[in-house]
Amino acid sequence: MDGAKGLETLSKEVLQFINGKRKLLIDGKWVESQSGETFEVYNPATGQVIAHVPAGNKEDVDMAVKAARKAFTEGSPWRKLTPSERGRIVSRIGDLILKYADELAQLESLDNGKPVSVARAADIPLAADLFHYMSGFATKLDGSTIQPSVPYTPGAEYHAYTRREPIGVVGQIIPWNFPLLMAAWKLGPALTSGCTVVLKPAEETPLTALRLGEICQEAGLPDGVLNIITGFGETTGAPLVAHPLVDKIAFTGSTEVGKLIVKAAAHDLKKLSLELGGKSPVIILDDANLDIAIPGAANGIFFNQGQCCAAGSRLYIQEKVYDQVVEGIAKYAKNLKVGPGLDPTTQLGPLVSQIQLERVTGFIESGKSQGASAASGGSRWGNEGYFVEPTLMVNTEDHMKVVQEEIFGPVVVATKFKDLDDDLIRRANDSVFGLASGIWSQDISKVHRLAARLQAGTVWVNCYNIFDASLPFGGFKQSGWGREMGSLVLNNYLESKTVCISL
Ligand code: NAP
Ligand code: MG
Repeated sequence: MDGAKGLETLSKEVLQFINGKRKLLIDGKWVESQSGETFEVYNPATGQVIAHVPAGNKEDVDMAVKAARKAFTEGSPWRKLTPSERGRIVSRIGDLILKYADELAQLESLDNGKPVSVARAADIPLAADLFHYMSGFATKLDGSTIQPSVPYTPGAEYHAYTRREPIGVVGQIIPWNFPLLMAAWKLGPALTSGCTVVLKPAEETPLTALRLGEICQEAGLPDGVLNIITGFGETTGAPLVAHPLVDKIAFTGSTEVGKLIVKAAAHDLKKLSLELGGKSPVIILDDANLDIAIPGAANGIFFNQGQCCAAGSRLYIQEKVYDQVVEGIAKYAKNLKVGPGLDPTTQLGPLVSQIQLERVTGFIESGKSQGASAASGGSRWGNEGYFVEPTLMVNTEDHMKVVQEEIFGPVVVATKFKDLDDDLIRRANDSVFGLASGIWSQDISKVHRLAARLQAGTVWVNCYNIFDASLPFGGFKQSGWGREMGSLVLNNYLESKTVCISL
């Protein structure tokens, strides 16, 4: 292994895992890719190679899809399970994630760069909780009974009911910002619904998904129900979307790739759910409790190095408190401890990749060239790894790229508003995205009026980035189709069948 630097704190399990030969999971077996090719996985804190994983391609995807198809056929071990048995397996996956929480947190931090303390406190328990929450639905996927009137068959009597049935084979394509948690958001409801899955993790962060595959086996998931193909978007993701035996694609990632998937799925009208980008507005009113609003808004952008689709990346601050809030957030940013994720005292880790480093610093430069300035940060941090300083940009105008486009890094723009009027609402909604939003205020009437008018799938009030398995999450406008989590997510994986009987 060539990337030993900074890995002194890793447990022997994690070292064994990254040094071992990683394989694809197809039909319950760990196998090499058909081509035998592999690709490198990097430590974002150092840029050094930490592992090699198989580069799956069309042939591997085809084998995985066929395995998932076989596992879904009537009479297969998976289909023969009672709902309660299925739910227990899903629940056991949650139990095992908790059992291996320390190991998973280290692996996630190493692979993605995020602070290990954050992975241990948030990503891992949230992933476990998602499986636990979903598992209870396995026994409650009820339809309804209906009494039809049918006016054109006078005198006839009918009895009707609906059944909720799994959609079938699902291709799940996930991003690198919360690798294990995104796998959980996708797998929890799909398995609970009785679907079978081919999962493609992001090329930057394949490690915890592969470990999750082992965990699912340990939990008793029958062969072929979950297949995992590591590889690149064009050579692994695209063939999965194109495969005729896949019934549905669930995707989280960029709006750009989301649109490609919509086009690719048009030929056979695969079902799609899409969780895409965001540029979420956060409104701070002059009556807000600034003791909580300032750290809250700062954490709303800097959490996970700003690599959150829901990041509160546009601040609208009421005139009277503008200076105080800008000063407070700048101070918060300057005090954040930046460093390698594996250091337990780190609060802000590196970005995930060289590409993201260049992309985010490129945005900061574009803001500066258009007349904005940095009240904190504004540059790359250090000269090793992919770190960016937590950055607050002021003197921005609504048309600038830094205000309109998703940066996906620790960069927030702040602007002023005078009154809570139509113009503020127009500016807050002036985005192609509509994923999340925030309001900081102690005036309950203003809060409710604003919450109703923001075009966003989530409105957080006096809090931000509050995620829970019970809370549906997803986007208006170009932020996506469908909802993740809550009971609503099950609609992504179930068909409704109407059975109508003449008595
Ligand atoms: P991305 O390209 O959209 O990647 C997301 C997933 O889609 C990855 O697994 C990717 O595989 C796969 N993929 C890429 N091209 C595909 C294709 N043609 N068909 C099927 N699957 C495909 O996102 P990214 O490149 O990692 O990040 C770019 C930008 O996307 C970020 O800067 C950010 O703005 C946004 N983003 C948003 C979210 C979110 O949660 N909404 C998450 C991540 C990124 P590979 O990993 O192999 O490319
Ligand atoms: Mg990509």
